[in-house]
Amino acid sequence: MAPEKISVRCCIAGGGPAGMMLGYLLARAGVKVLVLEKHGDFLRDFRGDTIHPSTLEVMHELGLLDEFLELPHQKVYELNAQFGEMRLTIADFRHLPTRCGFVAFMPQWDFLNFLAAKAARYPNFNLMMEAEVTGLVEESGRVVGVRAKTPNGEIEVRADLVVGADGRSSIVREKAGLAVKEFGAPIDVLWFRLRRRAEDPAATMGRFDAGRIFITLNRGDYWQCGFVIAKGQFEEMRRQPFETFRAAIVKLAPYTKDSVQELGGWDDVKLLTVRVDRLLDWFRPGLLCIGDSAHAMSPVGGVGINLAIQDAVAAANVLFKPLRAIDHLRRIQKRRELPTRMTQGLQVAVQRRIIARVLVETGPLKPPLAVRLLARVAFLRRIPARIIGLGIRPEHVSAALLGS
Ligand SMILES: Cc1cc2nc3c(=O)[nH]c(=O)nc-3n(C[C@H](O)[C@H](O)[C@H](O)COP(=O)(O)OP(=O)(O)OC[C@H]3O[C@@H](n4cnc5c(N)ncnc54)[C@H](O)[C@@H]3O)c2cc1C
Repeated sequence: MAPEKISVRCCIAGGGPAGMMLGYLLARAGVKVLVLEKHGDFLRDFRGDTIHPSTLEVMHELGLLDEFLELPHQKVYELNAQFGEMRLTIADFRHLPTRCGFVAFMPQWDFLNFLAAKAARYPNFNLMMEAEVTGLVEESGRVVGVRAKTPNGEIEVRADLVVGADGRSSIVREKAGLAVKEFGAPIDVLWFRLRRRAEDPAATMGRFDAGRIFITLNRGDYWQCGFVIAKGQFEEMRRQPFETFRAAIVKLAPYTKDSVQELGGWDDVKLLTVRVDRLLDWFRPGLLCIGDSAHAMSPVGGVGINLAIQDAVAAANVLFKPLRAIDHLRRIQKRRELPTRMTQGLQVAVQRRIIARVLVETGPLKPPLAVRLLARVAFLRRIPARIIGLGIRPEHVSAALLGS
């Protein structure tokens, strides 16, 4: 059967933070846009939960902030870490020159459902769930659309511009043959949930101990946990009794002594593979990649979602009028490449100099000099707060887009 054919001005592959924000902004500016998302809902647990001050500022510019903050969330004013026995604050967001001096921790599916509901008010916005992009349609070297698999059969979407926002395993960038520079990542993350009891501590926390890093995100009645391991170590861990893993968790967070027993085994633990990479060119005629599809981010600093949103804002500011010109695509990469390079550079440095060292440490853990300085000089905590909370070169939604 011939695939159903659809025509739009912009087709976005992937309904993550980058794709949904770009779809919302373009539809609001009057561009007919279709977002294709391969899953049937937004309930992905591999997503981060952090909505940073820069994203909250964008929500304010869009007039959505108050309503957005009515959704259940936790306000986190500072990020804390514990190195061995030393507990310290590494970033204090209260001093940022933004409306919200905090990170909002909110399950990402709530954020994406919110954006989807707001976008649905615009007749030019279309979101197709369970639509998996499988390939590109090309004519004379130009990308003119995508093919996608849906429960009702294959579709072919023709578009002036295709945007790859399909995350770190992007099929769009692979099919487009865009060259990728890999930076390597010495870590992976084991991702699981533990019941949170009323008497547990409240703080979202990173716990560093010899050979171990354990992140606990407070999601109200449960902890979303990230147990950082050296890359490739998971297979070896799986060969050991599960009890060994439970004991390692309890050693780092003694308050989980009871709830950890509810983890049934390795099937309750998901391996998240970390990678850091960047496309050399983020575009081709008729095609642009943004978010992790253009630059896969490490979880270090929890900034990937916000970079994805910033890319979407920068792209929408340029694209809402002419969608075809290649110079416009180049301009978007030029604007976003420097913040991405610098952020990835910092992530890679932290991975190599701090995280990888902690993971091979066997004796008592001594915090690195940079961390000791942060503990001693409160003013210095404004630097990581700025990098994590606002990012480098924060984007603002253009007045022309809002007025269009
Ligand atoms: C372990 C881990 C923890 C992290 N924690 C945080 C954190 O706390 N805070 C933070 O800011 N960042 C975090 N990050 C980084 C963050 O997850 C990413 O940078 C961010 O999600 C990128 O957003 P995106 O929209 O570009 O891509 P994604 O969020 O990956 O979204 C891509 C979307 O495309 C869809 N898709 C994929 N393929 C197709 C296809 N072929 N067709 C249609 N749809 C498709 C996917 O289902 C998905 O919905 C973490 C990363 C890792 C690995």
